[in-house]
Amino acid sequence: MVKKQIQSTIQCDTCKRSVETAVTRPGEVENFLKDLENEGWVFKATSYPILLDNIKEILCPACKAIHKAKLRESEDIYDRITGGYYADNKYDEFKRDALKHFGLSGHPKADKAFSFAWEHGHASGWNDVLYWFGEIAEFME
Ligand SMILES: [Zn+2]
Repeated sequence: MVKKQIQSTIQCDTCKRSVETAVTRPGEVENFLKDLENEGWVFKATSYPILLDNIKEILCPACKAIHKAKLRESEDIYDRITGGYYADNKYDEFKRDALKHFGLSGHPKADKAFSFAWEHGHASGWNDVLYWFGEIAEFME
C-alpha cells in the first residue's frame, strides 16, 4: 500500500524562497513547521497550533534578519510591537523604549511605574503594557 503524501509549499512572502513539505499524516505538518521555526522561519498564524491552514504570513530566516534590522533602526515602539521585535523575550529593550517614548528615562519613579504597567498589561501583550504605562506617565512630571 502506498501512503498518500500531503504535499505543500512553504514560501517566504518577501523573497519567495520556498521549501517543499512531503509528509504522510496531517500531524506531521505541525512538526515540519516546528523544524522550520527552529531554523529561523517565522509563521504568523491566526490561531494556535500553527497549521498550514491558519498561517497568514511567512518569513524566511534571511528576510527575518532584514526585517529585524529595519525595526532596530526604526526605533518606533509601535512599529516594533507590530513587527514582533520584542517577541524573543526583549523585556529590557521594551522597557527602555517605553521609558524613552514617554520621556521618562532616568525618572526616579520610572521603574515602579513600569512594574505597575507590566503587572496590568503583560498578559494581553506589549500594547497593553504601553497603554497602562501611558496612563501612569501622565501623572509623572
Ligand atoms: Zn525571504
